[in-house]
Amino acid sequence: MSSIDDLRKKLDEIDHSILDALARRRKAVEEVVRLKDQDADFVRDLDREENLLADRLDRGRRLGLDGWFVTRIFREILENSLRMQKDFLLASRNPDQSGEIISVGYQGTEGAYSHEAARKHFGSRGAEVLYRGYDSFRELLEAAESGECDYAVQPIENTTAGSINEAYDLLNRMPLFIVGEEVIPIEHCLVGLADVPLARIRRIFSHPQALAQCSEFLAGLSHCKVESHADTAMAVAMVRDAGDESLAAIASDDAARHYGLSVLRRDVANQRENFTRFVIVAKEVIDHDVRIPCKTSLILATGHKEGALMNCLNVLHHHKLNMTKLESRPRLNVPWEYYFYIDFEGNASDKNVQQALHDLTAEVSYLKVLGSYPALTTESARPASPKKRSKGEKTTVSAPAPKPGKVHSIELAEKKGYKLASRAYRSDDSIVRVGEVAIGGDDVVIMAGPCSVESEEQIRICGEAVQKHGGHILRGGVFKPRTSTYSFQGLGFEGLDLLVETGRNNGLPVVTEVMHPADVGRVAQLADMIQIGARNMQNFSLLREVGRIDRPVLLKRGAMASIDEFLAASEYLLAAGNQQVVLCERGIRTFETATRFTLDLSAVPVLRERTHLPVIVDPSHAAGAWQYITSLSLAALAAGAHGIMVEIHPEPAKALSDGPQALTFDRFAELMKMIERT
Ligand code: PEP
Ligand code: MN
Repeated sequence: MSSIDDLRKKLDEIDHSILDALARRRKAVEEVVRLKDQDADFVRDLDREENLLADRLDRGRRLGLDGWFVTRIFREILENSLRMQKDFLLASRNPDQSGEIISVGYQGTEGAYSHEAARKHFGSRGAEVLYRGYDSFRELLEAAESGECDYAVQPIENTTAGSINEAYDLLNRMPLFIVGEEVIPIEHCLVGLADVPLARIRRIFSHPQALAQCSEFLAGLSHCKVESHADTAMAVAMVRDAGDESLAAIASDDAARHYGLSVLRRDVANQRENFTRFVIVAKEVIDHDVRIPCKTSLILATGHKEGALMNCLNVLHHHKLNMTKLESRPRLNVPWEYYFYIDFEGNASDKNVQQALHDLTAEVSYLKVLGSYPALTTESARPASPKKRSKGEKTTVSAPAPKPGKVHSIELAEKKGYKLASRAYRSDDSIVRVGEVAIGGDDVVIMAGPCSVESEEQIRICGEAVQKHGGHILRGGVFKPRTSTYSFQGLGFEGLDLLVETGRNNGLPVVTEVMHPADVGRVAQLADMIQIGARNMQNFSLLREVGRIDRPVLLKRGAMASIDEFLAASEYLLAAGNQQVVLCERGIRTFETATRFTLDLSAVPVLRERTHLPVIVDPSHAAGAWQYITSLSLAALAAGAHGIMVEIHPEPAKALSDGPQALTFDRFAELMKMIERT
């Protein structure tokens, strides 16, 4: 038998061969970049990336590796090679700016989020990089202005706390340009000297933004005094220097590692998805290759006249430039007038953008172009996902919705209780976005998952199966409307955490049912889509509550509801403000007893005629038996449904709810293949 030392040696060898392979890969990428530079092709081939990820995922799984782990590693590898390609093009277009040693400034101390962003952005450059921390944003940008550092890495906005006003104001005032951007995920941790219980902590230090982003966690620690400091890493350094176990800081685990402290609690921010965007600032503009998707940032002030801002936006519209951000700030010394900060997709090296900027000048009283730079936050720059099915291959032909005729006039619809839902009100199909999935367009959407979330293991393998076989949204009930009070009622919020975690690990948005109006807010914070179940279709207080939030809703048809009553129920959501409603036909009660309910497939074309809202079908609850799910699913899509929702389970016989209607993973895989072939 091998000793532990032998095994460790073996691990060392394996790791070294991983590094050798990465170095070989890098060399090959360099050759690709050189070749690409000579043709007019795009730098990024998303299609290829998606296929590559799907291939690595498949191969990894066959080798017994976890799919999420493999996807994550290859995403990092792809991102790194994309950066290399951009850096190469940057250097070849701006030879005089690619010095041997570059100095990069950031605000804060080592280990701060800004330092992390700087390292992420400049780490892949061939050059040697010197990093230097500054006490304030002003000092940082002054260093860039004076040439003390070549680049400054300046945080500009956070996806939960919003824009950093001081950064916007300084960029307007100083003669500086934006030459790049960087995005880093913010994962706040509570960091302390040793692994002490939270009850022993007395004082917590951090940057005010970080404290604000963790306000809910901090509210639960009312015995602690909270203190603001210049940056998160400095807060960690203070805890270390004080050597006092009753002190803690909120910072990244990077900062904890950097200063040798322990993470007492992870993920303490109010919102899980928390990103900060940084801009890379320099004294001179940098010219970017037009093949790299870029963003352009500018600041303008309009004349104080009616429609002035609209005229500016119209210039962008006229040149087909997609605006990605609009922010306003007070105009200095001119009370009640504003600067508008605009980002749009486009590169100032492009003729069309140059013309747009020229046209804009005629509409403004002040214009400052901050620069064009490779975009990281736009659609074209998002990381690829493993490909689910080949592009252009349409899964089904949705039945075209007829134009509203006389019968469907607004007046008639209003009499029936639905105006906003009617096709007369909105003639184009509505598209509802759930994460990155669009429901209501040409692509069929598959929602699948267990009836109930039962355990960590059960939902994890269900999530992997949905992802693996090409599903788009993961379903799972945690609050269950059960006919018998003695039946399993769901895992509640604990189950919701498991569902959300599984969705995240597999890149799938999640949908789950809410039964009580009081739970809506909390569930909506975590779930990507809220389901209102058949039994609650006419629970008007629940409808009103869900209508008030900004989350897509899956409204299921009540088993005793007519199509018009179904639409009138959807109107409660729309009238309360929430327009992101997807309708779900799931079977109605008839005299027939051969199936659990009777799937009313006629409802699909009728709904498509009467409403612009997307329509999906749940054959599982309608049939109540797995044997009928495949044919009913295919029939639903042929009738014009935008998607289907089916229940799956690793061992249907052992399911805690709705076992008889659940598909095994193999049967689900077969169904997915049949849908793809349609
Ligand atoms: C469900 O989707 O888990 C469910 C209970 O469905 P319905 O409300 O359609 O019965
Ligand atoms: Mn069910």
